[in-house]
Amino acid sequence: KAKSDGRNTYCFYAPEQDAHSEERFTLLQKLRSAVANKDFELYYQPIIDLHTGRTASVEALLRWPQSDGSMIGPDKFIPLAESAGVINTLGSWVIAQACLFCASQRERGHSDLRIAVNISALQFNDGMLKSYVEEALATAKLPPEALELELTESLFLNESSAILQQLSALTDMGITISIDDFGTGYSNLAYLRKFNASTLKIDRSFIHPLTSDDNDVPLVQAMITMASSLGMHTIAEGIEDEATKQMLIEMGCQLGQGYHWSKPLNEQEITDKLRN
Ligand code: C2E
Ligand code: MG
Ligand code: MG
Ligand code: MG
Repeated sequence: KAKSDGRNTYCFYAPEQDAHSEERFTLLQKLRSAVANKDFELYYQPIIDLHTGRTASVEALLRWPQSDGSMIGPDKFIPLAESAGVINTLGSWVIAQACLFCASQRERGHSDLRIAVNISALQFNDGMLKSYVEEALATAKLPPEALELELTESLFLNESSAILQQLSALTDMGITISIDDFGTGYSNLAYLRKFNASTLKIDRSFIHPLTSDDNDVPLVQAMITMASSLGMHTIAEGIEDEATKQMLIEMGCQLGQGYHWSKPLNEQEITDKLRN
């Protein structure tokens, strides 16, 4: 009995795996044509100065609208875009759009607003990132100081001199680098220092339990203190309530982002929000 169950189970899974890869293939085809047609939308989430309550910058977050009105989130299609070799085309479109958005908000009176853009490690592969950035800034007439690139820790683990060179060329221009999802990878801050990052974004998984789990308090405190002693700012991701915000202010964190202020908004919604 057990044996035949085992065999049935095996036979049952095989066609399902086929269906799965067929679904993936269809999604890939759809993604390629969406990239060619620039069929994406940028959402924006404010990053707040915890002391003044002002919006210091906004993070651009990519969405893929579907014909049925739903949205596919980046966690699902960014890895696909990376494996399909279209992340550079998609990523340079994001940089260009985000710079245009920031410039238009500056013209509306938010004269010191900055824009943060997520960059995939693979966007360093063709050596073109700097020229994409320069072109986007020039087209939008945006100063380089307005642009922050968010990179994840995994990129910094890679000691590739090609990446290091491109990063220092970007920071030499005046662009700033932040380390996204900090604490989820394996790298240490002292090591990260040599990449000239100016900001540390503490991952949401450490921020969310702050008010309920005492264990994370000393950990987050250590990250903030260490960052500050290295001359870096900290942004706490995923702040969802006032109590968490207060704890982070007491710990010396300068900036915060999360549903407590706003979820990511479409261009019209964020424009309305920034006006008020
Ligand atoms: P991330 O850069 O760490 O962005 C923060 C994510 O946390 C966003 O998810 C945001 O919607 C979510 N978030 C913000 N505040 C809260 C909160 O208070 N509570 C909770 N539960 N979540 C919050 P999203 O938009 O789904 O993006 C997921 C990831 O996809 C991003 O993580 C980033 O790594 C990646 N991504 C987004 N846009 C791009 C892009 O243009 N290029 C690349 N390469 N990656 C992107
Ligand atoms: Mg980010
Ligand atoms: Mg993050
Ligand atoms: Mg993330």
